[in-house]
Amino acid sequence: MIGSGGREHALVWKLALSPQVTQMWCAPGNAGIARERLAKNGSAVECVSIGAEDLPKLLAFAQEKKIDLTVVGPDNPLALGIVNLFQQHDLRIWGVNQKAAQFESSKVFSQKFMEKYGIPTAAAGTFSEAGPAKAFCASLGGKCVVKADGLALGKGVLICTNQTEAEKAVDEIMVSKAFGTAGARVVIQELLEGIEVSLHALCDGKTAKIFPTSQDHKRALDGDLGLNTGGMGTYSPTPFLSDAQLAETARRVLKPFMRGCVAEGIDYRGLLYPGVMLTKAGPKILEFNARFGDPETQVYLTRLENDLVELLDASVSGTLDKVELKWNPAASVCVVMASGGYPGNYTKGKPIHGLEDAAKLPDVKVFHAGTALKENQIVTNGGRVLGVTALGKDLKTAQAAAYAAVGKIHFDGAHFRRDIAAKALE
Ligand code: AMP
Repeated sequence: MIGSGGREHALVWKLALSPQVTQMWCAPGNAGIARERLAKNGSAVECVSIGAEDLPKLLAFAQEKKIDLTVVGPDNPLALGIVNLFQQHDLRIWGVNQKAAQFESSKVFSQKFMEKYGIPTAAAGTFSEAGPAKAFCASLGGKCVVKADGLALGKGVLICTNQTEAEKAVDEIMVSKAFGTAGARVVIQELLEGIEVSLHALCDGKTAKIFPTSQDHKRALDGDLGLNTGGMGTYSPTPFLSDAQLAETARRVLKPFMRGCVAEGIDYRGLLYPGVMLTKAGPKILEFNARFGDPETQVYLTRLENDLVELLDASVSGTLDKVELKWNPAASVCVVMASGGYPGNYTKGKPIHGLEDAAKLPDVKVFHAGTALKENQIVTNGGRVLGVTALGKDLKTAQAAAYAAVGKIHFDGAHFRRDIAAKALE
């Protein structure tokens, strides 16, 4: 496993349940990952201190250990071409190749693809000069979203409600180059209104299998206030899209997506995670991510009943058409506990108390995101620290169970939202 966040802990935990796994390493991992044991033989998952973007060292390690399957969590190694590199050396690896990773690494690429293949999205234009970009914003009455083309640590998307804000956003990205070369080109989309949901689909180059719905909570504070974060919590399923609407959305998005990939010579094997706005005019795609969401993974994998090794194997081999995804009908809720100050400045190294008490609660799994082991004590080591996840017969029960577990855990400055899944229960 490559990566070190909550998503990777959830993947490690689920893979460790597979009877097919006899040994597992995680680069670089975290304190929670290092505590996982394999169901097959009880052996520990070993964390190795190789960074997720250190491709040469990861390759050498996989060769030395003769690893049968490498699983990539985060987007950066995918965009750097780790899948192509491993394949060139005959190593089996799960994740999208570099060409497919462009859906996440270039907003211009994604927007043009969606338009070419008729995938429902926002009205948009792509620009490499500020003047025409501003004129396009004006044509939308200034109500628009200005997006830097390239990867900008999740910060390159500026939401504008009038022309003054829009011109400022264009200047920031294209003239002052606040995001460097990532802002050499921009996509400007109309500002869509509606409820945002996350979709996930596992793909094998030909077939795409849709997951149930989930919803992320991006803002730092209750009531969707405060700054944007990597995600403060999730739940699944969401009531905002019925099973029939999900199937219809999958048909309108995944079919043209897979068809477009084949036409463009993109072998899309891995996870596709579209961000969707449910507008009055139907679902519209805001962006594509080319990996599992974090913290969506935590709620999905606690509901998934299949052996994850089998699914990832089928995704690599192109045999997903022979597999049926099976989901626990229970609801899952994940509450992220973050360091005080996140997503701004925060301090690390705070001792975390109560993890054992939380783990004793039924149907609860505490996934670690930014944690480390220091002198036998688990301490905070990042902005998002834990993803406290619980299953329940319905959302309300799962939410209560997740917050009961959160209540057992303490660290100095701990910050979490108290309204994860609340919108769904209104
Ligand atoms: P993106 O990285 O493109 O998903 O954008 C980040 C966030 O900005 C999304 O999760 C939405 O909340 C918001 N956003 C992006 N595009 C739009 C749009 N066209 N209309 C409204 N909100 C948007």
